[in-house]
Amino acid sequence: MDLETLSARLAELQAAGLEAIASATDPASLEAVQVAYLGRRGELKTLLGGIGGLPAEDRPRVGAIGNRVREALEAALQGRQAELDSAALEARLAHEAVDVTLPGRPFRRGSLHPLIETNREIARIFGQFGFVVYEGPEVETDVRNFQALNIPPDHPARDLWDTLYTDVPGHLLRTHTSPGQIHVMQQTAPPIRALLPGRCFRYEAVDASHGFEFFQVEGLMVDEGTTMADLRGLLDAFAHAMFGRARPTRFRPGYYPFTEPSVAFDVQCVVCDGAGCPSCKRTGWMTILGAGMVHPVVLRNGGLDPERYQGFAFGLGTDRIAILRYGINDIRMFLENDLRFLEQF
Ligand SMILES: [Zn+2]
Repeated sequence: MDLETLSARLAELQAAGLEAIASATDPASLEAVQVAYLGRRGELKTLLGGIGGLPAEDRPRVGAIGNRVREALEAALQGRQAELDSAALEARLAHEAVDVTLPGRPFRRGSLHPLIETNREIARIFGQFGFVVYEGPEVETDVRNFQALNIPPDHPARDLWDTLYTDVPGHLLRTHTSPGQIHVMQQTAPPIRALLPGRCFRYEAVDASHGFEFFQVEGLMVDEGTTMADLRGLLDAFAHAMFGRARPTRFRPGYYPFTEPSVAFDVQCVVCDGAGCPSCKRTGWMTILGAGMVHPVVLRNGGLDPERYQGFAFGLGTDRIAILRYGINDIRMFLENDLRFLEQF
């Protein structure tokens, strides 16, 4: 091959290369063009391989032309690469653009669960009398759940609580919030006015009025000279705040191993106003909590001297209060998490 032919071939190669670069539409095809023309086995290398067949004086000229072709192609490659990059960027910007004139997506606000709402209302009412909210553990020891509350291992009263035991000996899921009394008595000194809301567990068949999981609020007051009259006054004030000032209340004798004497506290049925209906089993009254004067043994187990201190305790079912407040007829709805139910509150 002579100088003239080689120069002409180089010029053709440059023209073809530039055209291929210009028509590459994405990074991959541009790279393919680069490899084909400027790669180690590319066309330019192959063509310049023929330089050895030229007379010695012509070789530098062909080398110079080859370099110019290389530079021209490399410059074109770079330029095309920049064009493709900015096109890609623009496409991305157009795709991801935020239209600030669009109205925002509405933020959906939830509402408080009826049990939480009821719990807060209970805490608010007793809070007016100086009761402070404490929390106790859901997994309790047999000692605090039963023994410290005057219920020894062989006591028949244990039949009142169908208990769920854990694998750890001596531990169980608390059957009531009453072990919180022991926690509070051991941790604080009288005067005590404590409210202990929480989840309790019993091995129960589930139906419209029973769950294996339910909520209680325990109340405890301990001081010098606390009497049953204080308990009655406090519970009346609570019932009036929760169910209306005109609603009659009454004490009935009750039994709990950890209070002596023990009472059940009734309010006049909120459905029939005392006339008698299926909700109150025709009695005209509804029991909302159990209460009594703290048993001296329990005070002693809490580290307090029963000669000096007296106290009362009460335990009310949060579910029961919520059922009466909202007119709900099935306790299971509280924990089913059905939005059609929850969105009504
Ligand atoms: Zn009734």
